[in-house]
Amino acid sequence: METKLKIAIQKSGRLNEDSIRILKEAGIEFNNGLNKLKAEAYNFPLEVFFLRDDDIPQYVEDGIADIGIVGENVLIEKNKKVSIVNKLGFGKCRLSIAIPKNEKYKSIQDLEGKRIATSYSVILSKFLKKNKINAEIHEISGSVEIAPSIGLADAICDLVSSGSTLFTNGLKEVEVVLKSEAVLVSNNTLSKSKENILEKLIFRINAVKKAKNNKYILLNAPNKNLDAICKILPGMKSPTILPLADKRWSSVHSVVNENEFWDIIEKLKAKGAEGILVIPIEKMIV
Ligand code: ATP
Ligand code: ZN
Repeated sequence: METKLKIAIQKSGRLNEDSIRILKEAGIEFNNGLNKLKAEAYNFPLEVFFLRDDDIPQYVEDGIADIGIVGENVLIEKNKKVSIVNKLGFGKCRLSIAIPKNEKYKSIQDLEGKRIATSYSVILSKFLKKNKINAEIHEISGSVEIAPSIGLADAICDLVSSGSTLFTNGLKEVEVVLKSEAVLVSNNTLSKSKENILEKLIFRINAVKKAKNNKYILLNAPNKNLDAICKILPGMKSPTILPLADKRWSSVHSVVNENEFWDIIEKLKAKGAEGILVIPIEKMIV
């Protein structure tokens, strides 16, 4: 029988859509109909399990799933023996301590002796210990943000992305305990054949990630400035240059990184480039 790699992803919640999307962009097709617990890919040796995110580290450690997609926050809290193989760039958030907005806060010393509600007691207790703070941790599994208003705690330690949930609950963020994003994790003892499938998967995911950070750019360059324009463009090897019907002009094609994109466009325009077209790249293999 053909070996298949088993991947665990979140069944529903904040990581579900992006986890499915990254697999589909990697060209892997499967049916992710609602209420499905398991799906088999049609065109890649992969089986997808849909699970609660909190359970994924354990399943991967035990080898029930070979790999999984989970937030670093959950991974560190669960403290399981698995390896991180790739950071995925989505599900970005931070685990932060927040207190009622009207309270004064000067430094971490202000947490001394306080009651802090959280679902992340492992991470929080390490953080407090490192900062030599004695505080009482109240472990609760959900709706942490209402704990101060119902008198259960003086502070909370919870996940934040925009901060709007904190604000609606009359809280302010005072300490960042951990920054997190979704990661691909793997069981520590995969068979050789599963390793091979995982390598193919990582190769594809990297091609998708790289493509997202780059744009294909086409422009018309006056021949007299062609050298100067080519110097501005990085390209994968060097820019492609094609002659135009008008002998004084050429068409130049290249690949530009998102981070330096606007800077490069400005320089190109200054050298007389015209008709600049920018096109998204679907996959990029270098
Ligand atoms: P499950 O039912 O699977 O246990 P959950 O309620 O624990 O779901 P979600 O709220 O869907 O989990 O969050 C899943 C992950 O998404 C978090 O562990 C975290 O890594 C990430 N995340 C990103 N932004 C946020 C945010 N603003 N709040 C909470 N989690 C976030
Ligand atoms: Zn969860």
